[in-house]
Amino acid sequence: MGRRGYILAVSAPSGTGKTSLCDRLAQDFDFVVRSISMTTRARRDGEVDGKDYQFVSREDFKRFEQEGALIETAEVFGNWYGTPRKPVDEAILGGKVIVMDIDTVGAFKLKKMLGEDCVMVFIKPPSLEELERRLKSRGKNTPQELQKRLSEAEREISESKDYEYVFTNEDFAKAYEQLKQIVQAEAAKPFRNRSG
Ligand code: 5GP
Repeated sequence: MGRRGYILAVSAPSGTGKTSLCDRLAQDFDFVVRSISMTTRARRDGEVDGKDYQFVSREDFKRFEQEGALIETAEVFGNWYGTPRKPVDEAILGGKVIVMDIDTVGAFKLKKMLGEDCVMVFIKPPSLEELERRLKSRGKNTPQELQKRLSEAEREISESKDYEYVFTNEDFAKAYEQLKQIVQAEAAKPFRNRSG
């Protein structure tokens, strides 16, 4: 019996806690793997090349893109991000769930391209005020960056109405339960289990 995997495309405004939620899912389940994006953005303190992102120059990024090694790319806050194709193909054929932290533009592109092989999840912050508080306490952004991230958050939240699953991260444990339930519901879809 063959099981076909899929992409779990998770979008959320930065500061919503999506990275921790996705990391936890990959830790808890063998059939869940993380997609490591390629980016031209500078590495932040604490980030590890090859784990958080594959950090590359703009030149290399363009080359990978031209070679067809990225299934989608997007420019976010002036930097380029892209999803490497090979791990996605391998995960889908290998029956795995490949979790992706992706902006709304990229998620819609993948959904259009892959149909049922892509499941879109949007995680909302409790409110824009709470998001502002969380971003400020993280202390990673200048006031201008903060404003940019907040207006971007507002735009992304308005796009969430076209996602397949939407929930709010008020509390990590509750949000994680919701994410797990989505993965369980998707596993129960008969077309993901193909005989022969
Ligand atoms: P950050 O720089 O804060 O890590 O990420 C900024 C934004 O880029 C987030 O919205 C994140 O979801 C998005 N992003 C990260 N990797 C990719 C990717 O491979 N493709 C696309 N389209 N967006 C990505």
